[in-house]
Amino acid sequence: MKKSGIHTLDQRIYRREFIHYAGTSALMLPALSLLSGCGGKENQSSEKTEATDASGDRQLGIALVGLGNYSEGQLGPALKETKLCRLAGIVTGTPEKAEKWKKEYGIPDQNVYNYQTFDQIKDNPEIDIVYVVLPNAMHAEYTIRAAQAGKHVICEKPMATTSADCKKMIDACNQAGKKLGIGYRLHFEPHNLEMMRLGQQLEFGQVKRIIAQNGQKQGNDTPWRFDKELSGGGPLPDVGIYCIQGAIYTKGQVPVSVTARYHPVTDQEKFSEVEEGMDFQMQFEDGSVADCKTSYNDKYNLLRAEAANGWFELDPAYPYDGLKGRTSRGPMDIENINQQARQMDAFAASIINNAENPVTGEMGMRDVQLIEAIYQAADSGRKISTTQVVKVLDHYQTA
Ligand code: NAD
Repeated sequence: MKKSGIHTLDQRIYRREFIHYAGTSALMLPALSLLSGCGGKENQSSEKTEATDASGDRQLGIALVGLGNYSEGQLGPALKETKLCRLAGIVTGTPEKAEKWKKEYGIPDQNVYNYQTFDQIKDNPEIDIVYVVLPNAMHAEYTIRAAQAGKHVICEKPMATTSADCKKMIDACNQAGKKLGIGYRLHFEPHNLEMMRLGQQLEFGQVKRIIAQNGQKQGNDTPWRFDKELSGGGPLPDVGIYCIQGAIYTKGQVPVSVTARYHPVTDQEKFSEVEEGMDFQMQFEDGSVADCKTSYNDKYNLLRAEAANGWFELDPAYPYDGLKGRTSRGPMDIENINQQARQMDAFAASIINNAENPVTGEMGMRDVQLIEAIYQAADSGRKISTTQVVKVLDHYQTA
């Protein structure tokens, strides 16, 4: 393996870009261990499947676990654009899918696993990172098993269906000395980073009210989403989580309490286990609030902040592409980028630079704790204190 990686032009360009958008000072740390110690035995890799980036450095290998809609539609294609990592392996229970992916991505037989052979991934030096893209209730088990196999882990949102599971996942990764990141792609998306900057740096004065709405007409193509055991809930943990995230990173504070109420159920059969929709409010220490709405039966996609001296908003705020922003001073002129490629490269960079990644397991746990509090508020009709949730924030900093 070539050791000069972090000094190459390609990676320096990437690092500067990332710092510009994310303002994450941790990434400015010098590389402490370029690729060594992040999955281990790179030198054993076969020459045939070893891949390098433009500057000749080895790209970290990612194995996707679960080849459903998100892997097929977004993560696989994004891994064709990443600079610091590449798709090296797959884990699937469906042999036909394995054949299709092997062909499309040039994955060798020895890097294809099923759920029975998954743990053997520990012996594969080409896999540095396991990316868990399974139904929510399966995130904990596969994250823990991946850490025990000596791999870094990216886990999709919501991190788990209970905060107790989140704690076990964090502990397992810490014990294994491996990094854990959550698939919060919008932390790497320039429009959302601008909301973070405008809100946290008080560009329009104190943010007094946030309106965050994310709802979609959810079809029946992924039945696990309506199965409480597998999903942990309906739209709240699935798409409402973006409202929780958006409000917190725009305000730059973790709420101190929440109130909530369920939407009326219009389809009893479809929504026999999970909620159809929900309104919830998060209250912050300074008296400001975030009014949030989420649904599986209505479309909305908004993140808006009303501040002392103006307003700023994204509409739509959370899709993979086509985001648009405006402020009371005029439109935001910001480019849409490949969010997932940026997110996975940032995680790879955190391994290469031995730096903290901005979307930690603790952040994932914070949001699951808030989801639990919101359900408690809706079930009881009471205001629920959230002062005990993990106080983790993504502070916007200028480079
Ligand atoms: P999906 O149903 O399309 O894919 C799930 C995959 O898990 C399938 O390949 C399925 O075969 C496999 N699987 C293994 N065991 C299963 C079981 N017991 N029941 C059902 N499926 C099983 O779902 P998806 O939309 O790809 O979502 C997967 C994960 O990704 C979820 O956690 C979801 O929240 C997350 N996700 C994130 C984003 C994002 O923007 N970050 C977008 C979509 C989905």
